[in-house]
Amino acid sequence: MPESEIHDVIIIGAGPAGFAAALYTTRDRYDTLILDKAGLPGGQILLTERVENYPGYEVVSGPDLIAQMTKQVENFGASVTVGAEATALRRRDDGVLEVEVNGGEKTYLARAAILCPGSDYRSLGVPGEAEMRQATRVSYCATCDGAFYRDKHVLTVGGGNTAVEDTIYLAERFTKKTTLIHRRTEFRAQKVLVEELYDKAGEHNIEIKLPYVLEQIVPDAAGGDIDHVVIKNVQTGDTEDLKVDGVFIFAGMVPNTNWLAGAVELDDAGYIRCNRQTLQTSLPGVFVAGDCRAGAAMQLVTACADGVVTAMMLKQYFRDPSAWKAETAEGLGGVGW
Ligand SMILES: Cc1cc2nc3c(=O)[nH]c(=O)nc-3n(C[C@H](O)[C@H](O)[C@H](O)COP(=O)(O)OP(=O)(O)OC[C@H]3O[C@@H](n4cnc5c(N)ncnc54)[C@H](O)[C@@H]3O)c2cc1C
Repeated sequence: MPESEIHDVIIIGAGPAGFAAALYTTRDRYDTLILDKAGLPGGQILLTERVENYPGYEVVSGPDLIAQMTKQVENFGASVTVGAEATALRRRDDGVLEVEVNGGEKTYLARAAILCPGSDYRSLGVPGEAEMRQATRVSYCATCDGAFYRDKHVLTVGGGNTAVEDTIYLAERFTKKTTLIHRRTEFRAQKVLVEELYDKAGEHNIEIKLPYVLEQIVPDAAGGDIDHVVIKNVQTGDTEDLKVDGVFIFAGMVPNTNWLAGAVELDDAGYIRCNRQTLQTSLPGVFVAGDCRAGAAMQLVTACADGVVTAMMLKQYFRDPSAWKAETAEGLGGVGW
């Protein structure tokens, strides 16, 4: 393959982290290709109409912010290719990186890569969940979808901070009734939140059922709404049918990193390990930014900040690729990967 087809940098994931990285790499005049598996660039923030914690904006919609970010990087010369799912990453003996997309349909080459594939909501995999998610009756985000359940009955599922916080959020603002189930006899959430939950349960009609799991979501005959859900008491094995209008599942996030196993070091949960100062991964010339990074704060601003750091570090890497080895081998007082 002729040298001209080797990009300076390939960014995998056109979310906020990827766009922020591209803004810097393109302004440094590096030939930058951004790949995204989705049909539209933007990542998770596309799912919300209301962002109130992005500096400089009192309030902004996710899609508007992404439209600006896309325009901005394209103006500086980045090209964004959608429908391109990275499925493998390799480093050749000559140091060139190969990014295979869509299971080998195409392979792109680069001198360096920035991994920004973000993460997705964890689903429970119960019968009916996928169909009712499609019909927007199953949600994973109270902020995004809570307003659809004004004066309705919803089931919330989970035992961590998000489950408890968002159950209170839904009950205080929207729902007529909220039933929270958790598979254990105690919540994992912080004690202060659990206390708040029990304090507010009566006033906001929150029913708490422990230890229960969701067994099934049964669609109505037309398939557009939930007819009822089946929940099971894990101690007695007894099942119950509940009439609800929506289900909110708070089972955490899964990083989009399956395809990277064996290529870069991942932690036990699948997040990409890195040197926390330079954001270099275990593979030379490969950096990581955003929600897929071990220890990430999972916010828009921090994803963007990561992107900027990787672009700055990449410049140093290009100046002297051998520096990568010295720095990672010595680590940073135990905080490195
Ligand atoms: C509904 C909702 C509301 C939110 N509200 C806020 C808020 O108000 N304020 C805030 O700070 N944060 C908010 N967040 C969190 C914020 O959106 C994330 O922290 C941020 O988007 C992370 O950016 P990222 O670039 O790391 O990853 P993502 O935004 O997840 O982007 C990753 C991109 O990579 C692509 N991708 C994944 N795998 C591959 C692959 N193998 N090949 C190619 N492309 C791939 C994905 O399609 C995606 O476009 C919200 C999140 C959600 C879901």
